[in-house]
Amino acid sequence: MQKTEWAQDIPKLGFGLMRLPGTQGGGKVDLDAVTQMVDAFMAAGLRYFDTAYVYDKGGSEETVKTVLVDRYPRESFMLASKLHATIGVNSAAEAKRELEISLERTSAGYFDCYLLHSLMLTNYKKYDEYGLWDFVKAQKAAGKIRHIGFSFHGTPDLLEKLLTDHPEAEFVQLQINYADWDNPAVASRKCYDIARRFGKPIVIMEPVKGGFLAQPPASVEKILTEANPDVSAASWAIRFAASLPGVLTVLSGMSNEAQMADNLSYMSDFKPLSESEQAVIRKAQAAIAAIDAIPCTGCRYCVAGCPKQIPIPNIFSAMNREMVYSQTDDAKRRYANATAGVGKASDCIACGQCERACPQHLPIIADLQNCAAALED
Ligand code: SF4
Ligand code: SF4
Repeated sequence: MQKTEWAQDIPKLGFGLMRLPGTQGGGKVDLDAVTQMVDAFMAAGLRYFDTAYVYDKGGSEETVKTVLVDRYPRESFMLASKLHATIGVNSAAEAKRELEISLERTSAGYFDCYLLHSLMLTNYKKYDEYGLWDFVKAQKAAGKIRHIGFSFHGTPDLLEKLLTDHPEAEFVQLQINYADWDNPAVASRKCYDIARRFGKPIVIMEPVKGGFLAQPPASVEKILTEANPDVSAASWAIRFAASLPGVLTVLSGMSNEAQMADNLSYMSDFKPLSESEQAVIRKAQAAIAAIDAIPCTGCRYCVAGCPKQIPIPNIFSAMNREMVYSQTDDAKRRYANATAGVGKASDCIACGQCERACPQHLPIIADLQNCAAALED
């Protein structure tokens, strides 16, 4: 039986470093803003930071060095990074090199938590083929990794198989939010139950569903505001995730100081949802189930390999203005901005690369056809 005491006293809010300020829309990281956010986070007694090799297109790991590793004692924070076997990688050697590069970029010396990244049906065999499970075990023995885990976007059956085949995984990172709790495409509840059965601490990602639950549709907003007009919509989502037993931490991908201040207001002294608050969540879940939207989280894993340079998540974000809020003019304006100088939805040649990369298993090709019909003149 693995010991899990190491995961017991970690604060329930972790800082996800995928969507850093300044990088939305392709800009450079706003280092001043991130520095202030990190300082506020540490001052609140929180300490878990989550980056990844593939986040470095946005400068995430190098930012970690500048704003965290160079400014705080190494033992005062926990740092997680991840190794991806298929994005931008064509061999076992290239995949294994990611750890050294991540250690160089961050200057962290070691990673407290190191994850095989985004395992799902379309890629998990590569992690075996490249010997990456044995690799992380060896790197743990060498002191470069303290705890091994994996992040997961597959089916409950696959999670069961991976946890059975790889007892070396000390924790698992799952997509859990109240909107996806019973969504069959994500199966948050089933995956959570399996991880609990295996006794694995759970890191939660996408608690706000890529920002969707921070600005939910009007019907959901109404339910939350009537229950408590003084708290943000995001607070319901993050507290829902953090209230689940067995959670190691909840990663919030905070992108500005206002989001950090909001998160800290209820997570630096975390209180689980009460029974009456859980009832509010159940009403919000029912309202969300009645809404038609493209459930894209904006992770951008689909974008790098698109031969037509189609900004898929930006197009879906524009389309959701139409589908969720019926704001047609705004949707068309956002679509025109997103596709200026790059590929349009109608340029898609249906090669399927994006669908193989998408952790949400979205029917991207069909969705793009709908976007083209709705948003192109
Ligand atoms: S299917 Fe279309 S959107 Fe997806 S990668 Fe190919 S061209 Fe790009
Ligand atoms: S379409 Fe899928 S891969 Fe692309 S950004 Fe959305 S969720 Fe991520």
